[in-house]
Amino acid sequence: MSQVAEIRAFLDPAHTEFAERCGAYCREELRALPEPHDDDAARVQAREVLDWMGHAGWFGPIAEGDLRELCLLREAVASASPLADAVVALQGLSITPLLLAENEAMRSTWLQPALQGAAMGAFALTEAEAGSDVAAIATTAVRHDDVYVLNGEKTFISNAGIADFYIVFATTDPSAGTRGLTAFVVGAATPGFEFVAPQVLSSPHPLGTVAFRDCAVPSACRLGDEGQGFKLGMMTLDKLRVSVGAAACGMAARALEESLAHVAAREQFGKPLAEYQLVQDKLARMYVELAASRLLVYRAAWEKDQGAERLTLEAATAKVGATEAAQRIIDHGVQLLGGRGVLANNVVDRMYRSIRALRIYEGTSEIQHIIIARQLLAAAQQEA
Ligand SMILES: Cc1cc2nc3c(=O)[nH]c(=O)nc-3n(C[C@H](O)[C@H](O)[C@H](O)COP(=O)(O)OP(=O)(O)OC[C@H]3O[C@@H](n4cnc5c(N)ncnc54)[C@H](O)[C@@H]3O)c2cc1C
Repeated sequence: MSQVAEIRAFLDPAHTEFAERCGAYCREELRALPEPHDDDAARVQAREVLDWMGHAGWFGPIAEGDLRELCLLREAVASASPLADAVVALQGLSITPLLLAENEAMRSTWLQPALQGAAMGAFALTEAEAGSDVAAIATTAVRHDDVYVLNGEKTFISNAGIADFYIVFATTDPSAGTRGLTAFVVGAATPGFEFVAPQVLSSPHPLGTVAFRDCAVPSACRLGDEGQGFKLGMMTLDKLRVSVGAAACGMAARALEESLAHVAAREQFGKPLAEYQLVQDKLARMYVELAASRLLVYRAAWEKDQGAERLTLEAATAKVGATEAAQRIIDHGVQLLGGRGVLANNVVDRMYRSIRALRIYEGTSEIQHIIIARQLLAAAQQEA
């Protein structure tokens, strides 16, 4: 079934053409990539994918500000390779703050290399004691004339150890909570920056801990004013969270595709599994949840493309709705494949291992529920 069937109402003709083009690229180029056998191999493959995709111009949608195009890209890429999707996601998370903040020097240093796949970005927000609670960030940035001296550690950082530049959130005013946070661009070659150690996931994804030890960062590397870091980070996540929902749709769609092929071919008790109504029930449930998720994702992306400045409610709804649904869809897929569904080299098993992290990163499902409820309560209060 066409990737755009359920969402045509939210797309322009150019989007449909883009979806066909990037769908073909992902099927022909990315699906053939083997799943890396360990963390070192994942790091090598992530850099290769960055290079290929950047050279072919696939990071363009991040800069063009067309969120529907970015969602179509992530959906197609995630259905072919969750690792390649992580590469796209992190280019998005590191390029978007460069676009949002008024800092020409940082844009001219990093933007083109990042878009062309010559420079890999990372987004360093999380710390050991500051996960969901961003206000607890303890990394400090103390100004001395024309430099800020950074001290602290960031953990669970995608692309840690292989990125060329990091968007780092540190406090310039520890007494001010989120209002004291400031964002910086830190090159990996900056003295005092250190890759501490990798963190290894069950689904290949370069992740790890980095540290700043008296790391002197020129004030020209600051993104926005002091104290504006939280707003910049949240504006970035507002936009990118919708595309996390799109990636979830891609993984779920792949599980449905593999399940349809399997139940048509596999015979038990003398006929194909596809002929049993209990099997059909699972297929239908998978499709209904996938179609509903796509509507949430592309409705939110459409709102953004119409000029909505913030998308807090729509983005949180799309992210939690699509990632939670994808987990259920892929789980049905594993069940339909039987024993083959839990073999480590089976693509549905890979999707099963990969989808789990999407319910956690860029704000957990619980945090999305809190955001949604707060928005609803505020709107209800305003109406009253
Ligand atoms: C694969 C992966 C990649 C990541 N990449 C990055 C990255 O590139 N950059 C980056 O900065 N971070 C990254 N992260 C970190 C991620 O954003 C955090 O893991 C996430 O925000 C949750 O933080 P935590 O793990 O500390 O969990 P905690 O905040 O400790 O939460 C643990 C549990 O408690 C729940 N909880 C927390 N507070 C509340 C509350 N108030 N009410 C109800 N429940 C609550 C959470 O929902 C969760 O279920 C990544 C994580 C993963 C798994």
